[in-house]
Formats: sequence, C-alpha cells, structure tokens
Amino acid sequence: MALVEEAYKVIDHIKFGILSPQEIRRLSVVEIQTADTYDEDGAAIPSGLMDSRLGVLEPGQRCKTCSNTSVNCPGHFGRIELAVPVIHVEFAEIIYNLLQVICRNCGRILLPEKTTKSLRARMERLKKMLGNVPSLFYSRVFEEAKKNHECPWCGTKQYKIEFTKPTIFHEYTEEGGSQRLSASMIRERFERVPDEDLELLGFDPKHARPEWMIIQVLPVPPVYVRPSIT
Ligand SMILES: [Zn+2]
Ligand SMILES: [Zn+2]
Repeated sequence: MALVEEAYKVIDHIKFGILSPQEIRRLSVVEIQTADTYDEDGAAIPSGLMDSRLGVLEPGQRCKTCSNTSVNCPGHFGRIELAVPVIHVEFAEIIYNLLQVICRNCGRILLPEKTTKSLRARMERLKKMLGNVPSLFYSRVFEEAKKNHECPWCGTKQYKIEFTKPTIFHEYTEEGGSQRLSASMIRERFERVPDEDLELLGFDPKHARPEWMIIQVLPVPPVYVRPSIT
C-alpha cells in the first residue's frame, strides 16, 4: 500500500510589496525582444512572446528552462526592458502626494530635522503601544510636510505640482512657467529619498521603494497562465 505523506504549513502573514526592477530581472528567464510569436512552421520564435523558455502548451513539447512537459512545468516569467520608464497608473495618486512632500533637489522630507526626530520617536511609541502605526499618523505627516515651500535641509525653494489624470505631472516655476515632469525625472527624485524619511510617510522601503512605482522592466507572465485568445 502506498502511503502519501502531506506536509502542512500554517501561514503566519502575507506581505504585499512592489517588485523592484532587479527582482523582475532575477525572476526572468528570458528577455522578450520581439512582439512576434510563431514562425511559418509553427515553432516559437526565440525571444518572442511565446519563447519556449517561458514554458510550453502542447503535449509532447518540452520547456527549455526546466525540461518538463506542460503538465509538470510551472511556467517561468520573462521580461521586457522598456526604452523609457513609464508611470504605473495605479500609483499616480501616491506619486502625486509624495512629490509634494519631498525636496525636488535633495530628496529629503520637507520637515526640519528636529521634527523628524520627534516624529520618529512617536512612531516607535505607537508601534510598541498598538502594534502598528495608525494611518492617521502618516496623513498628518503628509499634511505638515506639504506646508513647507522651502527645503529645511538644503534651502531649495519648492514649486507647486499639478497632477492631470491619468499620469501627467507639471511643476510651476517661480517665473510662472510650467515644466512637465517626465517619468525619469520623478524616478530620479524618488531614488534620492532616504529610507528613514520614507518610513515617516508610511512606506516600507525594503518592500516598496517609491521609484519602483515607475516601471523600467515589465514582467512577462508564463504562456501557461495567459488567458486564451482563440
Ligand atoms: Zn518549465
Ligand atoms: Zn532639499
């Protein structure tokens, strides 16, 4: 008699984050470089959207990554390297809020050092007392930082930011003109924000750095999980 032993695990917690470009590249088995799928003979075009390193669909075919047939191959992710970064539309509102509370020059939070120190102490106390920090704490930090029109860290004057849906951002300069902020410019600003400032704004920088809200690399799902279009 065959015995089947099953192992059970209890899930302690689930954490959601944003995939970094490095993580997407690490998970990827192939860089997709052409939008084509099959050649005239019906074979998958290498580096195309159906590249057999992503997994296979037909019985009898073998996956070029794990050598399994479609039944046993779990499917593998690929990636597309974007020519220019793109703002992830889902995060546009968060990007807008963050742009207004960090310095456009040095990337620091627009609050004096003394204030950040006492806020950090309060945050630690709340964590100890309640187990987590209420979202009201972070919205107050945002409100406070938004009031500053000059960076307390480097003295740079801050300009008004305007957000037009879905993903357009303009900055109004002193002379009354406006400048469109490209996705790359926003990315560069976010890269400068130190982890400790992000924590005061409710970010978990280990799992969700703000520059990851602007996509540089697009994950390509395995063929196996894509919806059928026939
Ligand atoms: Zn495979
Ligand atoms: Zn500054």
